[in-house]
Amino acid sequence: MPVNTIAYQHIVKELDNTKTCLVAVSKTKPNEDLLELYQLGQRDFGENYVQELVDKAAALPKDIRWHFIGHLQSNKVKYIAPFVHLIHGVDSLKLLQEINKQAIKNNRVIDCLLQIHIAEEESKFGLDERELEEIITQMDQLFNVRICGLMGMASFSEDQMKVRNEFKYLNSLFTKNTSWILEHSEKEPVLSMGMSGDYAMAIEEGSKMVRIGSLLFGARNYTN
Ligand SMILES: *Cc1c(COP(=O)(O)O)cnc(C)c1O
Repeated sequence: MPVNTIAYQHIVKELDNTKTCLVAVSKTKPNEDLLELYQLGQRDFGENYVQELVDKAAALPKDIRWHFIGHLQSNKVKYIAPFVHLIHGVDSLKLLQEINKQAIKNNRVIDCLLQIHIAEEESKFGLDERELEEIITQMDQLFNVRICGLMGMASFSEDQMKVRNEFKYLNSLFTKNTSWILEHSEKEPVLSMGMSGDYAMAIEEGSKMVRIGSLLFGARNYTN
């Protein structure tokens, strides 16, 4: 399946209007496909699998900003700690402590987003509001991780109102915590929400970073 460069140009223009960052989600896709977008100027790429991310980062241009968007296991943090640009799916203090430890080993600060559980599906990872507040109180001890914002995934649902309400809820938690995030990270706070099927709505509801895969690279074939 060829890379949809027309969709890419269209989305870039659309996002430029609202100053939204595009993370091109390239999981399961070959290096040639990533390079095709790289040549059009894309620098932010998102991957879900640690080994795949490590292999791609070694093979592809060094100025790519690699986003880890999957569910990260503590024992695998060490493989991506030297170079990862932003870890989106952080959902426990234990994981943050491990990221902090590996960041120290690499003499750097690693940027992270806390994942909030907003979908109704049980299988989706993430913190609830109480767990979020709890983690925030612990952050003054982890000097080598920087919480830059929040991330969430809405339900896979035809019900547009339901999806919109989930984005609204995430944005309300984000708004509640932006002053803390700004103070802690000293960067413009990031709200990462929206994928191929719902990114336009996510932007309407305040997203500052969308993660788009299949619209750019075509459907994924997991048997490859
Ligand atoms: C795969 C994935 C995406 C991209 O999904 P598409 O529907 O293909 O755009 C976005 N975010 C996360 C966390 C993903 O795992």
